[in-house]
Amino acid sequence: MKYMYSAEEILNWKKLQLVKGGRLTQLEWLLDIAGGIDWQNLQKLKIDPCFSVELNEPLEALTDIWDCYCEENVPLQYLVGRCPWRDFELEVSAAALIPRQETELLVDLALNRIDKTVIGHWSDLGTGSGAIAVALSRALPGWTGHAVDISQDALDLAERNLKRLSPNINWTLHSGSWWEPLKPWWGLLSLVIANPPYIPTELFSKLEPEVVDHEPRSALLGGIDGLDASREIIRDAKHCLSLGGLLCLEHHYDQSDRVLELLRANGLGDVEYASDLDGVRRFALAKRLN
Ligand code: GLN
Repeated sequence: MKYMYSAEEILNWKKLQLVKGGRLTQLEWLLDIAGGIDWQNLQKLKIDPCFSVELNEPLEALTDIWDCYCEENVPLQYLVGRCPWRDFELEVSAAALIPRQETELLVDLALNRIDKTVIGHWSDLGTGSGAIAVALSRALPGWTGHAVDISQDALDLAERNLKRLSPNINWTLHSGSWWEPLKPWWGLLSLVIANPPYIPTELFSKLEPEVVDHEPRSALLGGIDGLDASREIIRDAKHCLSLGGLLCLEHHYDQSDRVLELLRANGLGDVEYASDLDGVRRFALAKRLN
């Protein structure tokens, strides 16, 4: 079903919504993702009063979403139930973190460093919505994939995303903590990516209310210094990676030196950092060399 609106109706609606709170970029995200008006048509509306657009949802439905976002800080992605990420759109829910833009880069950093012609096993530790697993399975269709999470609700969500976005590809979901459920594949994993919880306890309450009030704490909190999960993953990496296998981790803005040191101290080589789109050292990469 489509709902037709004139430019004037949409522009007036936008003004009314912004009085309630929130930012223009968020409102335009809602019009795009839930309403189906892309950026180009949004610009056209602003310059051509005779222009009219078809929406996927009536404006009343978008108003309800915006009200909930403004009044209760529920992230728009959760309210809409979808989130574009890389070249696909994921189903999202409060069972897992909303996939962040910076994490898109982690997948490219990994893919640029492996020999894609050699077939192997990849793993996404702490898969959440399955974002990284979907990206890896689509980029490496001949490989065998393993998406791990300790939360059954997250695994159910990841499964729906993998089934829809990566059908007919060899991936499996595993329930458990980090490497533990992958025991049969220890020593065979050629590419392992993780975006573990890394927010230090004390910093948590200072994050945006949308994050603090609605995203799963288990996917965010990394203990006193934020590195509990990273330490666990790095501790067993040498044992679990294949010879030459690559480990890629995301971490907080000020954890680079400590994560690189942990990688070296646990016997990994070719240790390097990479920065996110803001120039912040956000990723750590290392290989099992012996
Ligand atoms: N980047 C996320 C945030 O700042 C945290 C992700 C994580 O802990 N892995 O909200």
